[in-house]
Amino acid sequence: MALPFPEPRTAEARHFFAAAAAGRLELQRCAACARVWFFPRPACVACGSTDYAWFAASGRGSLHSFSIVRRAPSPEFRDRLPYVVALVELAEGPRMMANVVGDDALEVAIGDALELTFEDRGEGRKLPQFCRAKR
Ligand code: ZN
Repeated sequence: MALPFPEPRTAEARHFFAAAAAGRLELQRCAACARVWFFPRPACVACGSTDYAWFAASGRGSLHSFSIVRRAPSPEFRDRLPYVVALVELAEGPRMMANVVGDDALEVAIGDALELTFEDRGEGRKLPQFCRAKR
């Protein structure tokens, strides 16, 4: 059963998922105050300026918090159980929700170094995800 995919409804969300499909995690940086934010929005979360630029994130982050899901929220997720839902603190500052994926995902601990990967969800769609950083 195919997993659901976010349906981008704003220009900023469409930009974000088009970049993800091309293998880039892009964030917005305010031209007025340099704040970086996530999720995609039309104006700076700190000063309200609409003058911003997209840039490719480093793909590095750390695990701020997580939960291991053992009961599927919908039938599509049953084959994935158990899986990790994480709040990832990106090296650039913002936090984003993602899954920690990979063979050692269930061994995650808060503070773990994470690195970006992309999960192919079919039809050219890719979802930014994270795996535990290899040393
Ligand atoms: Zn700003």
